[in-house]
Amino acid sequence: MSGGHDKPEKDTPCSEMLDQIYVYIDGELGEGDCEQVREHLSGCNPCLDEYGLEEAVKKLVAKHCGCDPVPLDLRDKVLGRLARAREEQLAREAKAAGTPPG
Ligand SMILES: [Zn+2]
Repeated sequence: MSGGHDKPEKDTPCSEMLDQIYVYIDGELGEGDCEQVREHLSGCNPCLDEYGLEEAVKKLVAKHCGCDPVPLDLRDKVLGRLARAREEQLAREAKAAGTPPG
């Protein structure tokens, strides 16, 4: 609503990116975000590769960005795996960032 301009972080956490990719594939993001997602994809394969998502997501992104229809099967499958990957990634980042004293 009012001036809340999000500053793009230098290092976007993979969990956040996975989240964005999820929304993006779900069809709610615009072209600007499309670029952002693609940028992350080209710069960060491990986060997707680890979950076996790299190829599937790249295929979806390429189709989506090229205004081709995305196969619903594939879309559903990728969305489900993305959601799971994001949760795992979140847990991992929380572990790495906040080591509790003790
Ligand atoms: Zn990543």
